[in-house]
Amino acid sequence: MLELEHQLTRARGILRRAWARTANTDPELVAPARLVLRLDDTDLPGILGAGDTLTIHEWNQVITQAVEQYGPLPVTILAQHNANDERVAPLIRFAHRMECPTSLVTDGTGIDDAQAELLIDVGLGAIRILVGGVSDGIQAQTVGNTAAEATGAVASVLAARDNRNSSIDIEVAIPWTGPVVLEIAAIVGWARQAGVDGVRILAPLLANDLPADPELLDKTIDSAGVFCRNTGTSIEEIHAMVAHPDGKPGLDKKHATRRRKKRKCPVGGQRLVVAAAGNVYSCPFHAPIGQLGDELSDTLALGRAHLEAIASCNRVCSHVELAPAPIFG
Ligand code: SF4
Repeated sequence: MLELEHQLTRARGILRRAWARTANTDPELVAPARLVLRLDDTDLPGILGAGDTLTIHEWNQVITQAVEQYGPLPVTILAQHNANDERVAPLIRFAHRMECPTSLVTDGTGIDDAQAELLIDVGLGAIRILVGGVSDGIQAQTVGNTAAEATGAVASVLAARDNRNSSIDIEVAIPWTGPVVLEIAAIVGWARQAGVDGVRILAPLLANDLPADPELLDKTIDSAGVFCRNTGTSIEEIHAMVAHPDGKPGLDKKHATRRRKKRKCPVGGQRLVVAAAGNVYSCPFHAPIGQLGDELSDTLALGRAHLEAIASCNRVCSHVELAPAPIFG
């Protein structure tokens, strides 16, 4: 029965994404395919909003209202540098109980054996751990924590998956940034040997500090084969970002593939983010919809200007958090 529910959720997500590709700007007609709860601002300083952070009760209300409105949509928790934050496990538990598929994006900080087992016990369905180096120095420059914290987290989640006989999806995400090229081959080899389900090379949110080594990028993808989860389009767009590092989000549309050039950014129709201090938005690079009110639907009704800015955006973002492809799998 649960399996059927998940298939239905997936089918609904596919339909919503297809609908989102029309880049509708009418808030009444937009139906997000994914709810994102942003707990920290590690990769986007200042994005959380103003004032007090939401209580667990308020977060749970957001999930409840989103499910009432859109059905049990996938819930992603962004806790990049604090996976043992006291809010993470309760939020996953609540979303899971609401039948929402859950995923967590983190650099692994704070995930030891006990935390990994707790995350699985509360219903975590997928985890993406950012690994940009196998040495502490390179991991610090590419991601911001130590290699021991990141690789230790992967090992703990793998062990917990075995111990709990869980089917959690474990992905290692490698940011294409800074000195990652020095250790990328070692990261992919280690990830494969460790037993994760796949690796993905992440475009940075902003087009700066991209290593200009297109041959290594292609060689890494080719040698990883199906173990690498990137789409061909995402790799083409990383190449284009490398060639045009203008420091802005993603890529100027004029450098994108013909297919992407023609399409409006679908993020407004598929991704709804609620950040820890109440900011509500789809794209982090345009003025947000606003501050979360008592009813999520009332806040979303104010979304027209945000959706119009997205529909007329002249950038193309291929970072997986902002790209049209499903977040995991
Ligand atoms: S900056 Fe533009 S292309 Fe990138 S996610 Fe936002 S709206 Fe989409």
